[in-house]
Amino acid sequence: MGLIDTHCHLTFDDLSGDIDAVIERSIAAGVTGWITIGTDPQQNQKAVELAERYENIYAAVAIHPHDAKTVTADTINELKKLAQNEKVVAIGETGLDYHYNHSLRVDQRRVFAQHLEIAIDLNLPVLIHCREAFDETMQILDDCAGSVKKVVLHCFSGSAEQAKIVLDKGFYISFTGVVTFKNAEKTRRAAEVVPPDRLMIETDCPYMSPEPMRKQKINEPALMIHTARYLAELKRMDFADFAQKVTATTKTFFHLP
Ligand SMILES: [Zn+2]
Ligand SMILES: [Zn+2]
Repeated sequence: MGLIDTHCHLTFDDLSGDIDAVIERSIAAGVTGWITIGTDPQQNQKAVELAERYENIYAAVAIHPHDAKTVTADTINELKKLAQNEKVVAIGETGLDYHYNHSLRVDQRRVFAQHLEIAIDLNLPVLIHCREAFDETMQILDDCAGSVKKVVLHCFSGSAEQAKIVLDKGFYISFTGVVTFKNAEKTRRAAEVVPPDRLMIETDCPYMSPEPMRKQKINEPALMIHTARYLAELKRMDFADFAQKVTATTKTFFHLP
């Protein structure tokens, strides 16, 4: 069973021009499924079109918290319509980014709640982007506790204590190549406490290539193999066993065949 890159941006310019080769290299590396994430109306449309063209590419759609200030009632209606496509397997990435604050916090909170409403209505899982906003993100999720089907914190950068809070709520945690970075000791401590039946792996490509490929400017799904091997070693698990368990977790979470 191959690995699944649970969070990639295959429609972004760095990757979309050469998508066939990107997919070929990914398969050769053992990463044979992909969830491509849309971040604005145009990217959402592209993500769904790409998913329709490739059997093992699925899409998630949302307006990124960075762009919350642009979201109107029409944007939300359109998003909800698109999310009903059969290749759309999740709503995301949505959440709060208090690191960059590209949109006002009040707008980010409003749009996050609107996304959660869509996920609840359509019975879809939610992919959370959370930066320097852990407590408030948990608070907003608590407000609709039990109504959201499944929740994953993508590109997890919190502590082991925060990971435990997330797990206690029944949520999932996804790690990028950041966990392989020299200065990522906190993320490694967090990864140690997440059991394979609640853990997923992603590239978040084209950003952030994992070690030992960190110098490769444009990250791509093939490189996720390094993160997967690193995590298996960190958790002192046999790689094949770890990969099989994480893929099973991913398929359950996204309800993949
Ligand atoms: Zn993100
Ligand atoms: Zn992303």
